[in-house]
Amino acid sequence: MSRTIIVGGGPSGMSAAVEIARAGGDAIIIDSNPRLGGQYWRHAPVAKFSHDGERFFALQEEINRHPGIEVRAGTQVWRASYQEGVATVWLNDGTSLTSETLLVATGAYDRSLPFPGWDLPGSMTAGGAQAILKASGALLGRAVFVAGTGPFLLPVAASLVEAGVKVLGVLEANRVNGWVNHLGAIDLRKMKDAARYFKILSAAKVPIRMGYAIIEARGDGRIEEVVIAKVDRNFTVKPGTVEVHKCDAIATGWGFTPDLTIAHSLGVSTDVHPIDRSVVVHVDAFQESSQHGIFAAGESTGVGGVDLALTEGRVAGIAIAVQRGLISTVEAKNRSVGLASERTKIRKFADALLSVYKIREGWRSWLNPETILCRCEEVTFKQVRNVVHDLGASDVRTAKLLSRCGMGMCQGRVCGRMVADVIGAEIGTPATDDELRGIHNRPIANPISLQTLADQGQ
Ligand SMILES: Cc1cc2nc3c(=O)[nH]c(=O)nc-3n(C[C@H](O)[C@H](O)[C@H](O)COP(=O)(O)OP(=O)(O)OC[C@H]3O[C@@H](n4cnc5c(N)ncnc54)[C@H](O)[C@@H]3O)c2cc1C
Repeated sequence: MSRTIIVGGGPSGMSAAVEIARAGGDAIIIDSNPRLGGQYWRHAPVAKFSHDGERFFALQEEINRHPGIEVRAGTQVWRASYQEGVATVWLNDGTSLTSETLLVATGAYDRSLPFPGWDLPGSMTAGGAQAILKASGALLGRAVFVAGTGPFLLPVAASLVEAGVKVLGVLEANRVNGWVNHLGAIDLRKMKDAARYFKILSAAKVPIRMGYAIIEARGDGRIEEVVIAKVDRNFTVKPGTVEVHKCDAIATGWGFTPDLTIAHSLGVSTDVHPIDRSVVVHVDAFQESSQHGIFAAGESTGVGGVDLALTEGRVAGIAIAVQRGLISTVEAKNRSVGLASERTKIRKFADALLSVYKIREGWRSWLNPETILCRCEEVTFKQVRNVVHDLGASDVRTAKLLSRCGMGMCQGRVCGRMVADVIGAEIGTPATDDELRGIHNRPIANPISLQTLADQGQ
């Protein structure tokens, strides 16, 4: 029997690999990053973490120690398929692998919202700014605003401060009193992290402004100033609150989108999350998908943070060990003590976060006709409106085909969801669940060379 394939070497993929190794099994972890760790533990060649590095080093050490675990870093899975119980993945190094068991641990990517000027140099996603800083120590700018929604803005702003950046403000579009209805779901361990970030930000005198958003960025060739405003509970600008501030860069983050590219190619069933309508892999209590032998863990089953990713990875690793006959179900139960309840608890907290930091519809009022929606194909808001109102497109797919939104290099990763929401609003009918699922349909997951394509006979 071939070894288990793990696509993604972040927290969920690493913890699954360790459980498979502990059960005496073999696995290969494939990750496009040059090193293990995923988004949370992304690091420079010599790993140094300002906090929470111990868990990474423990996992890495166990993975390195086990001869049955191979790590193929800096390698991309560009295509995947599932036929008659066997998964095949094609790698950009020209090789392919097959296995009866595969774990999708592909994580998530930043969710973006457009506004006038968001395509100027100097404008980055919060995750992108964080990733560059973690991987190379480079800064997105010297005087920056961090804006959007969600608790992730805090670690991004704090690490920029620690790196010597002047953070001019953290603008949170939602309001903290959204927590009133979710007090029972609060994870106190996360409050400790939040307190640490607040301490760093308050020592640096960084203003944290709730109910504020960046509604425009301006500059000649790159960002020179931003327009910020107070927004109401629906994210609509409150009249008379507009301010203009000089800065040289901005980092904006609106939560994350689970990366389902590989999962979609494997033909697994997906759910549309009831709170934020993100598409997630449907899994059972053992993290197994609708396809026998295909498991999923971490952000691909719903955004929930590092602790959930680690827990789900462990559950998946133990379940894979059972399916491969490495351990009995009794042994699996012993190894899984506390994992199911931990998963439920964190998932409840994650759902509370999604509710409190939900993206509200009023963001569309920040757009002007010339605002670029699809950066790859440079399609404006006006052009999208035209295909609906002048050409008669009456569903998301037709509007996308006519406007070319989402048909560029990123294959809709950046604009797919927000364009679906814009088109839905113009048509007067929100995107259907299947239309949202369609955004993740990328038969070629990542750009590859024609040579690779030819070599692999595809
Ligand atoms: C840009 C970004 C930055 C983040 N930074 C933080 C942070 O600083 N603090 C925090 O608490 N949370 C952060 N998060 C949230 C974080 O992703 C999760 O908490 C946690 O890392 C999820 O673990 P995971 O294993 O599900 O996925 P990830 O950690 O995202 O790992 C997934 C891995 O899969 C790999 N992958 C995906 N597709 C392929 C493919 N086709 N071929 C090969 N490899 C592939 C990716 O390169 C990645 O390394 C960040 C998220 C993002 C998107």
